[in-house]
Amino acid sequence: MHTDLATGLVVALDIGGTKIAGALVDGEGRVRVRSRRPTPAREDAETVMAAVEDVLGELAASPLWEAADAVGIGSAGPVDAARGTVSPVNVPGWRDYPLVERVHRAAGGRPVTLVGDGVAMTAAEHWLGAARGHDNALCLVVSTGVGGGLVLGGRLHPGPTGNAGHIGHIVVELDGEPCACGGRGCVERVASGPHLARRALENG
Ligand SMILES: [Zn+2]
Repeated sequence: MHTDLATGLVVALDIGGTKIAGALVDGEGRVRVRSRRPTPAREDAETVMAAVEDVLGELAASPLWEAADAVGIGSAGPVDAARGTVSPVNVPGWRDYPLVERVHRAAGGRPVTLVGDGVAMTAAEHWLGAARGHDNALCLVVSTGVGGGLVLGGRLHPGPTGNAGHIGHIVVELDGEPCACGGRGCVERVASGPHLARRALENG
């Protein structure tokens, strides 16, 4: 049977400490259009939002844009999915930033769903990737930060605020190096991409 690949089209946003990636994704999970900008992570809140709007604007230039009927955001955490706000540790300009409302407006009033990026990645791995067919899974992201998400009893388990499985700020080294979150010796401070590279260089 022929399947119309524009069916079930959604706008996807991945907001991280290094890059902001956007895509139009069809109902089969295929990426149809992509856009990407570096995250101006050291800038103020509106400058970061302008980069998100650039990504959305580039997607909106596609003829497929009109067929997309919702937006899904996976953001660096912590997020507060209940309130629609984000406070990414690695984007200090955003604290309780009303990302859902801003994206809702920038995306022509489409409904917006927000979860932590680890939860979004886990949903994808459970649907189409490494955790497919497993009823219980913990999936990990190692990037600018360290995050994760949980599948329990065959279902994605985002938790009440969309952060369940976000293990990056569990302390693994008592009196370890200070972390951007205010704690010390966090998993993320030891094992994120930038910190792995830094430690490797420092240790020759
Ligand atoms: Zn931390």
